[in-house]
Amino acid sequence: MEKLNCLRCGAEMKFLAREKIQLGQTGWFLGDLGNLLAGALETAIFTCPKCGKLEFFQGDLFDDEGVETGKMAETTCPKCGICYELDSPKCPHCGAKNENW
Ligand SMILES: [Zn+2]
Ligand SMILES: [Zn+2]
Repeated sequence: MEKLNCLRCGAEMKFLAREKIQLGQTGWFLGDLGNLLAGALETAIFTCPKCGKLEFFQGDLFDDEGVETGKMAETTCPKCGICYELDSPKCPHCGAKNENW
């Protein structure tokens, strides 16, 4: 993957952790995104060793070492309209069957 550089000081961001974030408690940084997703959000957290800035990414784009896994094949739920992984047998949001599975 390409190096992530700090938006503030330009230093190379270091992978810190993957965290499951319970939506509803952390709306302060997700903003409106929290309204689109239900339950827990998997995030990958990177930190800048120079200025301490934290950056959050959608965790399913990274593996446990913080290496970008690339965009997963996704399908759109015909019932509720969200995108989810193509290899999932049903919609994680509303439970509708994945017709492409
Ligand atoms: Zn920085
Ligand atoms: Zn759905």
